[in-house]
Amino acid sequence: MERPAKLAPPAPAKAGTTLPGPLVGNEAVRSRLSRAAMDQRLHHCLVFEGPEGIGKFTFAMQFAMEINCLAPAVGGDSSLRPCGVCAQCSWILGGTHPDVMVVVPDPERATPIISAAQAREIVGSLLLQRHSARYRVVILSPADAMNEESANILLKTLEEPPSGTQFILVTARPAALLATVRSRSQRVRFGPLSAAQMDLWLASRGLDPALVGPAGGSPGRALAWVAGDGALRAEVMDGLCETIGKPLYLMFAFTEATSKKLEGGSERGDLVLQLLEELLADVVIVASGRTPTHVDRLPMLRTWVHGLWPGGIGRLQVEIGLARQRLRSNVPARIVLEALLAHVNLELHHAGGHA
Ligand SMILES: [Zn+2]
Repeated sequence: MERPAKLAPPAPAKAGTTLPGPLVGNEAVRSRLSRAAMDQRLHHCLVFEGPEGIGKFTFAMQFAMEINCLAPAVGGDSSLRPCGVCAQCSWILGGTHPDVMVVVPDPERATPIISAAQAREIVGSLLLQRHSARYRVVILSPADAMNEESANILLKTLEEPPSGTQFILVTARPAALLATVRSRSQRVRFGPLSAAQMDLWLASRGLDPALVGPAGGSPGRALAWVAGDGALRAEVMDGLCETIGKPLYLMFAFTEATSKKLEGGSERGDLVLQLLEELLADVVIVASGRTPTHVDRLPMLRTWVHGLWPGGIGRLQVEIGLARQRLRSNVPARIVLEALLAHVNLELHHAGGHA
């Protein structure tokens, strides 16, 4: 028997190394699919559609494990699957299962498309003998990255794949799939998570419950928000720490760049103020001999203790409060920040003068 153990996936697999955490939401849809799998009446080409970031791809991976898991299904109940630890689950989790292909847009191309070459590789791979899986699973994500050429190459296979083959087309834009592809598949609609489900999901990740608003029912959006926010925060913090105590021209460069960065996001308008408040709170902590929150700034904080402790802290806190009021009355951020940072420099340069 031919054992294509070395069969490479046709495109770089998104290798997951851990279970992606508890799946939340869309329970009814998911249990319908589990039921269909147990009864062996799955459509061979499923389209997982629904808004961006709600876990369609994550569930597709989990479903690939579920239908191949070696854990027992007692009395037709598959609730022990996927176990996450059997050979099948482990290979899929590790991104090394020869029978599970994750096809994502060709990274070699400028525009993100699933290319004709990738489509031909899928067709070719499916002609080979299965390795060990109950179902060979092909996940295309996003499936709307297929162009007409690659979709047409796959059409016959999508219509009549070798037995034991399960296609899952993941998309937030089902209308962008060719009509001929849609007609050969079964739609599975996923919806956004409810506020209560988002609360649960955020708590399971240790994320801020306040993200439930900006996330709008999408865990993916919550993660993007955290990543974006975090990167901006780190960038502004670096700039702030490099600037304070330096000559005026450096300060102007920082305030100009920062006020541009903060434009278009009024909720972020006082990020600099918030960071400065955190640093001042750390000065108090360092002055009392404890470990500050921003421990990576310890050398700078020590010089601030020397310059600001104790009187300067209170005066700067008052200035931050005034700056916040000015921002809310639409005084340009650049002017507000320059005035505030000039105050900080003044306090630092007159070390001991006010104490
Ligand atoms: Zn398993």
